Amino acid sequence: MTYVITQNCCNDASCVAVCPVGCIHPTPDEPGFATAELLHIDPATCIDCGACADACPVDAIRPEATLTAATRPFARVNADYYRDHAPTPNFTRAQHPGELVTGATPLRVAVIGSGAAGLYSAAALLRHPGVKVDMFEKLSAPHGLIRHGVAPDHPATKRVIDQFDFTPAKRSRFQLHLGVAVGTDISHAELLTRHHAVIYACGAENHNQLGIPGAPLRGVHYANAFAGWYNNHPIHRDLSPDLSARRAVVIGNGNVALDIARILATDPARLTATDISDTALKALRHSNIEEIIILGRRAPEHASFTTPELLGLLERPDIDILIDPADLPHQPPTDPAARTRHDLLATAATTPPTPGNRRITLRFHTTPTHILGTEAVTAIRTERTTPTSPPTPDEITTTIVIPAIGFRGKQIPDLPFNPRTHTIPNTRGRVLTPTGTPLPGVYTAGWIKRGPTGVIGTNRTCAEETITSLLADHRAGLLAEPTSPRH
Ligand code: NAP
Repeated sequence: MTYVITQNCCNDASCVAVCPVGCIHPTPDEPGFATAELLHIDPATCIDCGACADACPVDAIRPEATLTAATRPFARVNADYYRDHAPTPNFTRAQHPGELVTGATPLRVAVIGSGAAGLYSAAALLRHPGVKVDMFEKLSAPHGLIRHGVAPDHPATKRVIDQFDFTPAKRSRFQLHLGVAVGTDISHAELLTRHHAVIYACGAENHNQLGIPGAPLRGVHYANAFAGWYNNHPIHRDLSPDLSARRAVVIGNGNVALDIARILATDPARLTATDISDTALKALRHSNIEEIIILGRRAPEHASFTTPELLGLLERPDIDILIDPADLPHQPPTDPAARTRHDLLATAATTPPTPGNRRITLRFHTTPTHILGTEAVTAIRTERTTPTSPPTPDEITTTIVIPAIGFRGKQIPDLPFNPRTHTIPNTRGRVLTPTGTPLPGVYTAGWIKRGPTGVIGTNRTCAEETITSLLADHRAGLLAEPTSPRH
């Protein structure tokens, strides 16, 4: 028997650190870790000890014998990884925080943002008894996208928060300041007078723009607003989308698009036990939407969604997934992971729909060109383009369009910003001036550091890299003493 990593995998590598035989890969020091869709257990070397399952913060690791119909395909996904990656059992990641920072005068660090990157940064800092952390969050509730982005039907993913329930000793050195916006309520300069270092972990607050005619029409709701609506985000909870039509269109082919389509297709009765907002649940109970069309401009093999999320969707008995078999490549790919994804899509393309189910239609090779309507959306015009056929125009009738086309970071007052990547320029988390030299005492972690990629646990490795830089600078005497440390 072996253990198997399933859909919820958060990639924070807690399992990697405890595996006695090093059979979980990629590890944070291996190529491909940053872009891995999930981690994989090698069935040939797993000794069935269960240490990984105990350590997993999101309950994603199961004994193979207990897999259900929905999770059984993950045994193949785990095993496939080792068809072209030889396991390397000698993972050498440091299990300890290095030389501890101690001392009567604490090292004071401000962390801006209380999402995954900020919390992993705080957790890494608080391992050192001589560090005090002030976390600043502009909203009135913490946890960023874990609270306001993760779909309500993924409660196991939200459990990642539990690991930030710090011990009393750590809590005494940690202060969370809610409702404080940097740049409005407190300036970057003020933060630096009170702390030795400031870490910006404020995510990617803006979204990409659709940039086609009709995009500003009523009925177009960008994904951050729509997901914020059902996740009770204080700015978006009153969105009030019109769900009276039979069909909704989601633009974009990433995991956020799948999340939104799945919530729209889910029987509200399944959502009552979740933390979905009461307003959204009420609206979904009156929804007429029967079909959600997801428009992806690329071919299926290049779609942005991950195989675990696709699998999770395909295993839902109450939702039909429709795919035009002509969208699939004629030759199945040879790479094992790509082959698994191809086989899943090919099976879906030939599975007959179940009468009465709501359906999600995945349209590939399809680019939106116009959103039609006078004040509100009435239709969306698209163009289908494949390498072998001329562009084919189409028009889809709908009153609601949800672009889920990716996020971008927002410039923070008084900080360097790269307007091309929408990130803070940095090297290993040290913020860089326009001339490329480190800005003393200023650091960054998470999406604003590296761009909007990866899953929640990816932020752990990202944050730990930043903390390693910060503590090295502290030990090298590069952090200035705060001039007004008390507040
Ligand atoms: P994403 O993965 O970058 O996907 C964005 C999608 O939007 C792509 O399909 C992209 O197409 C498309 N797009 C961009 N501009 C477009 C335009 N102008 N017109 C049409 N399509 C356009 O972003 P995301 O879905 O927002 O996810 C962000 C990150 O969060 C990802 O790392 C994701 O895995 C993660 N996440 C994970 C989960 C989970 O694990 N459950 C859930 C949600 C999000 P092209 O590929 O053609 O550019």
